[in-house]
Amino acid sequence: MTSAPPAAAPPVLALDGLTRRYGTLTAVDGVSLRLGPGARHAVIGPNGAGKTTLLNLIAGTDRPDRGAIALDGVDITRRGTAARSRLGIARSFQQPSVVTELSVLDNVVLAGWTHGPRHRGAWRRPSLHRSRQETAVRHLEAVGLADLAHRPAGALSHGQRRMLDLAAALAGDPPLLLLDEPAAGLTDADIDRLLGIVGGLPPAVAVILVEHHVEVVAHLATDTTVLASGQVVATGPTREVLARPEVRAAYHGSASAAVPGASGRSDGPGAGHVPTVCPSPTDARG
Ligand code: ATP
Repeated sequence: MTSAPPAAAPPVLALDGLTRRYGTLTAVDGVSLRLGPGARHAVIGPNGAGKTTLLNLIAGTDRPDRGAIALDGVDITRRGTAARSRLGIARSFQQPSVVTELSVLDNVVLAGWTHGPRHRGAWRRPSLHRSRQETAVRHLEAVGLADLAHRPAGALSHGQRRMLDLAAALAGDPPLLLLDEPAAGLTDADIDRLLGIVGGLPPAVAVILVEHHVEVVAHLATDTTVLASGQVVATGPTREVLARPEVRAAYHGSASAAVPGASGRSDGPGAGHVPTVCPSPTDARG
């Protein structure tokens, strides 16, 4: 007698026919997507394509009109933002969401408490508080902010706040991290640091990256989905998707434009000859 093969693990994130309308405008139109553990998945597309709306639907700050969202096989379509956060969806924002009055360290400690499974009453246990602080310091070291741990977060530069926002997002060891234009407004040095941080994330963390910098996408993402008018127009391995004539044409109006990856990099998951992307208005590097 042969035993049945083990059931395949559910994807970390499954989107099925996700749709969001604003009046007559369909911002996200029937998007389906599967992400496995450790996925590095970019979502690109022109301004207004629906990328941020898609992240909002996944994070729970917006609700779909149709479709379903499952995290680790659990339907979370009707769960609120806080519940999704507790279940392990973390997000880093275009505008960093740091508490300016708190120290840099306390921002990360607080984020870890909020997301952590044992956060209830943790403030009453000094040993747990200490271990939270040690963990927070490690996250700050990873983003290069450990030296500023005791400074007020309000004293940080924009680039430093983005790094702090990322450290806070990572504080709860989330299985799914949503990065909303992490490179926007960063200097070249900060982008290099960002590539190192995201590239060095634990393999178990699945990442969805919305980004206008195609070099960053090429460096970080193994897979890429292209949205246009809310619909998926291409999806698959980053290198293949970025090389498609219709994707190149969508960004350049020409199928012939091609530039090397960021800073001449050739070591990222999707690195190679890729089209540049129309920069967003907030893009400091474009
Ligand atoms: P960008 O790259 O410029 O950030 P995007 O791809 O993230 O664009 P979204 O911000 O998701 O695009 O917007 C998709 C469409 O939905 C746009 O036409 C936008 O104007 C519209 N939209 C987004 N949010 C709302 C809202 N709350 N009410 C009405 N329309 C909205």
